Amino acid sequence: MKPIIEVKLLEKSFKNRKALQNISFEVYPGEILCFLGPNGAGKSTTINILSTALRYDRGEILFQGEKVGANAARFKRQLGIVPQDLAIYEEITAEQNVKFFASLYGLRGQELQRRADEALAFVGLSERKRDKPRTFSGGMKRRLNIACAIAHKPQVIIMDEPTVGIDPQSRNHILESIVRLKEQGASIIYTTHYMEEVEEISTRIVIIDHGRIIADGTKESLKECLEEEKLYEIDVENTIGLNEDELYRIDGVKRVQVGENHIRVTTLKGIENLDRIIHTLIHAGMRIQNMATSSASLEMVFLKLTGRTLRN
Ligand code: ADP
Repeated sequence: MKPIIEVKLLEKSFKNRKALQNISFEVYPGEILCFLGPNGAGKSTTINILSTALRYDRGEILFQGEKVGANAARFKRQLGIVPQDLAIYEEITAEQNVKFFASLYGLRGQELQRRADEALAFVGLSERKRDKPRTFSGGMKRRLNIACAIAHKPQVIIMDEPTVGIDPQSRNHILESIVRLKEQGASIIYTTHYMEEVEEISTRIVIIDHGRIIADGTKESLKECLEEEKLYEIDVENTIGLNEDELYRIDGVKRVQVGENHIRVTTLKGIENLDRIIHTLIHAGMRIQNMATSSASLEMVFLKLTGRTLRN
């Protein structure tokens, strides 16, 4: 299958600070490509460039095999952008909002009405279409934001953290509608720092850190890099007095991560060293309160690749 978008060696600096370095990736039809990375990694910069809202210093973006530069108008017509900050008008009705945004893409008359109705139904807001968004909950406003971005049926939909700070019900609704958009053939580029969402909806994941892509693959392929590992999650009263080096001296220990009252130790599979880990912790005065082993997760992939958790 041919990619719908190809990004090649993208670079972007803000003043002297490099925000993106050698960013290259493809987007295929009918996929949900999740950008995963901690705050400041470069996710928004990347998708703002893709949305044509931000210039880049070097690199190339192709849409259906052609450089976007000369075909920017054609590309923009096929883009639906759901920005992180709500882009809706509070003082006009939900329906008027959707019609306004869809009209920017050239829709008129009955076609405009039909597409607006479809988009509002899609996000579950048909019954509230004559109400003004100022009467809406945060989740409903987010859903309206999505309706405004998809009424013109774009091939590529870019969503920047569309579920931040909303109730679980709206969040589920949004995630389900993203999967439906994919099933209808759209390509969705989705940024988030919620690992669970990525587990749930992504068909492919690009992990970005410090402005560089450090991994690109499906959940399954990314997790393969963990097959040789085992993770112990240990809760303690506090970690004052623990010297990480002592854990690293134990055979098979590959990574140690210490929080206020939590310790994560990654070891090679097949090496029986749990007794020594516990002994070291007790010797350092730790009071162990709980302990568990974790199965392969994206969080662990991220930890392995970056040495940090996403939540840091
Ligand atoms: P993310 O979306 O992953 O949180 P961003 O793309 O917003 O990360 O930021 C990447 C880097 O670029 C950060 O170091 C950030 O401080 C910097 N940055 C982003 N936008 C601007 C801007 N308008 N001016 C200066 N620096 C910026």
